[in-house]
Amino acid sequence: MKASFQMLPLVEWLRPREAAMTRLLGQFVRAESPSFDKAAVDRFGRIVAAEWRRRGARVTLVRQRERGDHVRAEWNPLGKKTKGQILILGHLDTVYGLGTLEGMPFRLARGRAHGPGTLDMKGGLVNALFAVDALSAAGRWPQKRIVFLWTSDEEIGSGTSRGMIEREARRSDAVLVLEPASGLDGRVKTGRKGVGEIEIVAKGRAAHAGLNPEHGINAIEEIALQISRISRWNQPSRGTTVNAGLIEGGTRTNVIPEKARVVVDVRAVHAGDMRALERKFRALRPILRGAKLQIRGGFNRPPMERKSSAALYAKARALAKEMGVTLGEAYVGGGSDGNFTAALGVPTLDGLGAVGEGAHSPDENIVIRGLSERAALLAGLLLRIPW
Ligand SMILES: [Zn+2]
Repeated sequence: MKASFQMLPLVEWLRPREAAMTRLLGQFVRAESPSFDKAAVDRFGRIVAAEWRRRGARVTLVRQRERGDHVRAEWNPLGKKTKGQILILGHLDTVYGLGTLEGMPFRLARGRAHGPGTLDMKGGLVNALFAVDALSAAGRWPQKRIVFLWTSDEEIGSGTSRGMIEREARRSDAVLVLEPASGLDGRVKTGRKGVGEIEIVAKGRAAHAGLNPEHGINAIEEIALQISRISRWNQPSRGTTVNAGLIEGGTRTNVIPEKARVVVDVRAVHAGDMRALERKFRALRPILRGAKLQIRGGFNRPPMERKSSAALYAKARALAKEMGVTLGEAYVGGGSDGNFTAALGVPTLDGLGAVGEGAHSPDENIVIRGLSERAALLAGLLLRIPW
């Protein structure tokens, strides 16, 4: 099928620009930006900010003391004539430490672009810039103000950006998230599990394991008993998972350990299950006589339920069809900033970014052909919301 009358100019303008998109992606990837390195993230943020200024966006750097500065770019070519707002979310940070590039350089091979952060999610940042270019070239303007929010700490839980994301989302009619697509067929993400981290600390009493074991209270044993209790809260059929992923305790084998702790990854599909699970953790009591327990943490991202994505997905799917592309959907276990906005009741569609494989792995890569396709889809969505 050939692209529709409305989508054709966008598709045709973007397709021959894949080389330019790939060049910009290379520039972005070479500016390494690990979440914990403020100077590096700031450096990359300034490169991204300059690209947006060049396109006439009003750019604000939202300064942070410890994390990288967030970049907010507002693009509103129709000025006062627009009504409402669309929020586009993406992040500047990656999970790769400084120097990763040496062993994992940006390179092109067989229609793919490889390198740290290509997929998650510098490819998505490139798509957004070119979507705006395509609209400008076609002289077609969104009916709403478009706010692009590029945050610096998504990969580490969005501690400094969550408030701002939620504020912008509340005044938006829709949120589009440029996280990677699911699978090589480029499915968008219409649901995500809620994700949290809960720490259980057990305190017992130290004693000599040989001389006076009866005086000791074994904190490791207490933690082990607690783990076997919480493991029973796994409910695969409902998508609720409880994973004791990190454990620590003890000092020497001949000492009854005074302290031990476990850190648990918790996930849930339903908001109700999330709250129930949190309550169960809070209600944990010691099993060994004399032991003490401390429970910290909880869910930091609520589930993104499909109902918040359904209408936007239908719109995106219809647009993709006009481009001759079948756009599928996926439910995934990992969270993103889309979880925050969906939980506020703002229509949210995620996974609109690059198509590729190996996010967070030594062979992260994107499909170059997907760049122009996704940018066209994004541009089309900006024109058609509201519908
Ligand atoms: Zn990401």
